[in-house]
Amino acid sequence: MSKPVVAIVGRPNVGKSTIFNRVVGERVSIVEDIPGVTRDRIYSSADWLTHEFNIIDTGGIDLRDEPFLEQIRQQAEIAMDEADVIIFLVNGRDGVTTQDEQVAKILYRTKKPVILAVNKIDNPDMRHMIYDFYTLGMGEPYPLSGSHGLGLGDLLDEVAKNFPKDDDEEYPDDVIKFSLIGRPNVGKSSLVNSFLGEERVIVSEVAGTTRDAIDTQYEYNEQPYVIIDTAGMRKKGKVYETTEKYSVLRALRAIERSDVVLVVLNAEEGIQEQDKKIAGYAHEAGKAIIIIVNKWDAIEKDEKTMNVMTRKIREHFLFLDYAPIMFVSAISGKRVHSILEIVNKVNDNHSRRIQSSTLNEVIEDAVAMNPAPSDKGRRLRLYYATQVAIKPPTFVVFVNEPDLMHFSYERFLQNRIRESFDFEGTPLRLITRART
Ligand code: GDP
Ligand code: GDP
Repeated sequence: MSKPVVAIVGRPNVGKSTIFNRVVGERVSIVEDIPGVTRDRIYSSADWLTHEFNIIDTGGIDLRDEPFLEQIRQQAEIAMDEADVIIFLVNGRDGVTTQDEQVAKILYRTKKPVILAVNKIDNPDMRHMIYDFYTLGMGEPYPLSGSHGLGLGDLLDEVAKNFPKDDDEEYPDDVIKFSLIGRPNVGKSSLVNSFLGEERVIVSEVAGTTRDAIDTQYEYNEQPYVIIDTAGMRKKGKVYETTEKYSVLRALRAIERSDVVLVVLNAEEGIQEQDKKIAGYAHEAGKAIIIIVNKWDAIEKDEKTMNVMTRKIREHFLFLDYAPIMFVSAISGKRVHSILEIVNKVNDNHSRRIQSSTLNEVIEDAVAMNPAPSDKGRRLRLYYATQVAIKPPTFVVFVNEPDLMHFSYERFLQNRIRESFDFEGTPLRLITRART
């Protein structure tokens, strides 16, 4: 089930990014260790009670060259295209402004639920300020204070009530859903054409049942596949579709819906920041990952070139040490057919289940080989491990005192698990819990 998407829309300075940050909370993210990324974070996972969702701050999509009205129009359109629920944010202290009315007018066109939130209501005495906003015709306004964190609970309850029901899971379980992610011109569309050009049982392009995504279904060797969001790769129609932030957003949405993500690089251009950002996101989302170096035909090479490139990729994508790397050419078709074999393989690994007895043997051997860390006379004791989930494979290790588990020891255990079972192409999660 792909997570519902919530977008925040509103004119500048009403507090969109403040609310976004409140909702997202303190999420530590590998992607954001990259300098300059935190500031312009506009898309994140979040949760409220039992609901998980993704949230977009449309104000962060940079449309600076456009006139004001055009900017908010586009931001509202992005929200209407991408979100399941829209939060329309206004500033209670300013009363209703013409700009708010302009945003409202655009949002009237959508069939998606719009929830009106009035920000900067910092104390109960200010509550009466929300009444003015009934005139926007968006129903009941929810008072909020982004600075003080007030009112968020009620707002999120209302948001969650409007999430689509879970009954629209799009494809049967045996279908492998994958996406090709990468900067413009790396060859994503060419690769898709190259897959589809082989013996195939075609191909229907269906407008996704949810959220207007365009997916391509096909079958190869009796295995059904869906290529997620191939529309995102085509010619851009709307103005905002050419902005970098939007293309990242689109990629993140496609990743979210995929089992396997093909991170496509261009052999001619090497690795760029945006590649890392997007690959980092796929890793965090727990997807199976394959790194594809396309346009391998286009560069001059000798017997060392592949090793050199492999080393470079490993250096840049330290967190993706488990992802296989393939060197292909969409144009000549070289090795393109073997991409699907690898897709099948990493998809199997992503769903692999290990029996507890076997897993515990591996953990015991690991502990015997490299004793668990200790601190001030207390030693970490590992009692029992079990796999609690697939996609990605997730293990819980029960211990005496979870604080004694260090990152490096966790890493060591993960590596032992990887050496014992085939988890190529999939991230693993290890959770340490106190035995109660
Ligand atoms: P955005 O342009 O809509 O993303 O707005 P920001 O989140 O950047 O906020 C604009 C300004 O309003 C900042 O100076 C915030 O500190 C301030 N602000 C945000 N939320 C509140 C609030 O609940 N109360 C008050 N008094 N100020 C707020
Ligand atoms: P996308 O924007 O990632 O979908 O990239 P396209 O598939 O549209 O390809 C961009 C350009 O790169 C086109 O001119 C393609 O012909 C070219 N291209 C794609 N794959 C290859 C390849 O394997 N080798 C070479 N030499 N050119 C390629």
